[in-house]
Amino acid sequence: MSEIFLNKDIIPMLDLKAQYLPIKEEIKTALKEIIESGQFVLGQNVRSLEEEIAAYHNVHHGIGLASGTDSLHLCLKALGIKQGDEVITTPFTFIASAESIAYVGAKPVFVDIKEDTFNINVSKIEENITAKTTAIVIVHLFGQSVDMTEVLEIANKYNLYVIEDCAQAFGAKYRNIPVGSMGSAGCFSFYPSKNLGAYGDGGMMISNNADIINKVRLLRNHGTVGPYEHRFLGYNSRLDEIQAAILRIKLKHIDEYNQKRSNIADIYTSILGDTVTCPVELPDRNHVYHQYTIQSPSRDKIKEAMKNNSISSVVYYPLPLHLQQAFKYLNYTEGDFPVSETAAKEVLSIPVYPELEPEQAEHIARIIRQAV
Ligand SMILES: *Cc1c(COP(=O)(O)O)cnc(C)c1O
Repeated sequence: MSEIFLNKDIIPMLDLKAQYLPIKEEIKTALKEIIESGQFVLGQNVRSLEEEIAAYHNVHHGIGLASGTDSLHLCLKALGIKQGDEVITTPFTFIASAESIAYVGAKPVFVDIKEDTFNINVSKIEENITAKTTAIVIVHLFGQSVDMTEVLEIANKYNLYVIEDCAQAFGAKYRNIPVGSMGSAGCFSFYPSKNLGAYGDGGMMISNNADIINKVRLLRNHGTVGPYEHRFLGYNSRLDEIQAAILRIKLKHIDEYNQKRSNIADIYTSILGDTVTCPVELPDRNHVYHQYTIQSPSRDKIKEAMKNNSISSVVYYPLPLHLQQAFKYLNYTEGDFPVSETAAKEVLSIPVYPELEPEQAEHIARIIRQAV
């Protein structure tokens, strides 16, 4: 076995320092320029990042925001989603996907996921639509696109907005179309651990709809239309120049980062395919492996063996949203979403990041094989 990794204390879930080193000089120069310019919030870097990310997705507009959570919240707000509305999403995601629905006073209505992709089970959406349903928040979980054709068909039929939660899927495509560009709007997070991560919090909403964009542009800055002139009440959800400059540098590498994640995933799948349930890559989309998530009834044994070998792993997500205390008021109970509940008991995300060496991935896969 190679010594490269055996000397390391631990294999982490991701290695942000390793990603930083090759772009270090570029980052330092950009930061120095910003600090010397004295322009720290909503300046040229934010405007350029908005244009570059819109161009990457072939959409007209992007709006830089303070976080991915804010991008979902302000998007729903701008669409006019409000108290009395019902919004469909899944219970197997990060809480922000559903939290944002509650922020605008609407009711999250959960629909179970599919066993193979952990994404929303589109065939169960229609039976959950009522006269109050106004939108669907779909989550491209772990880096793979939802079945967009089917979602958009239902949305058209019932006249619903489709908000794409792309926090885990920057660069993922569905039939060669980037996620975030197919619904009413796409919402992204630049939290440091995301595929395109800043050095702090950040987010962006993209859309072809100028009305939504203009509304969110005002919402992010207290509804300001002129100096101390406010058209409506908004928020402070501005993206800062330092984060935008870092993201612009990393954006140039995002496809290469995603490709390297995918290469690691291939190694895992080839070694683990007959041992545990590996992520399924559907033929008409490309997976950007924000997480490489295996499923096995022996999950806890695998996790323990990895820990004993100084390899990190994380359970995303140990408790589905319908069973969270925070959503108790929705009155769901155990058994309501069996696929999500089983996933919560059996999934394990293992290290996948661009700088992970293929030999390390092979080593990790062998440890998992031995554990099962
Ligand atoms: C990270 C994440 C968010 C929230 O993004 P923040 O930038 O942390 O606010 C929303 N949805 C999903 C699916 C996420 O993974």
